[in-house]
Amino acid sequence: MSSEVAARRDAKKLVRSPSGLRMVPEHRAFGSPFGLEEPQWVPDKECPRCMQCDAKFDFLTRKHHCRRCGKCFCDKCCGQKVPLRRMCFVDPVRQCAECALVSHKEAEFYDKQLKVLLSGATFLVTFGNSEKPETMVCRLSNNQRYLLLDGDSRHEIDIAHISTVQILTEGFPPGGGNARATGMSLRFAAPGAESLTQLKLTAGEDAHASRRQSTAWLAAMHKATKLLYESRDQ
Ligand SMILES: [Zn+2]
Ligand SMILES: [Zn+2]
Repeated sequence: MSSEVAARRDAKKLVRSPSGLRMVPEHRAFGSPFGLEEPQWVPDKECPRCMQCDAKFDFLTRKHHCRRCGKCFCDKCCGQKVPLRRMCFVDPVRQCAECALVSHKEAEFYDKQLKVLLSGATFLVTFGNSEKPETMVCRLSNNQRYLLLDGDSRHEIDIAHISTVQILTEGFPPGGGNARATGMSLRFAAPGAESLTQLKLTAGEDAHASRRQSTAWLAAMHKATKLLYESRDQ
């Protein structure tokens, strides 16, 4: 990929929406798969009362729209300003209690797991039925749209073309606790291919430091997958 193409893919522009400033991809086709569209606001005439506490709107009790769900609330029920990175808002925006809770959780994903995914980790990678795994660095592209695999050969997989993701784990510690992630198996539609291609990533056994990084990367990918499937279901 030339640096010119890479720059085009990562280009962003500032736009003003009624809810605030947004930093959006210059080219829609390269938008983040984690992105969400801004909701339609419930029209003013359809909500004379707060949709949470039922307070009647008047001069003193003003109406506010939640930027995430678009419903109408009073200031008490919709007073929190919370970051909403999935809609590309630059600053925290007003949200109802329910939405604020979800957005807080997602902010944690953006602050922690996304950084892990962008910095990448080393895996043994097997494509399809190939017998011989290749050592590759796997990371998420800057625009969050592609999985980039870099070894003796290079591959990029559009996140939107991935149909299933399974995190492979080993060991359930006695007395409960979480199993350790050891790998990931996914299937995706490669451009031009008729059937799905299978890809398997396994955290290498050798170096301890890189192993820890690989495990963290897999855990981050697990969270990312949840976000993706939640937004596909909406
Ligand atoms: Zn209210
Ligand atoms: Zn809301």
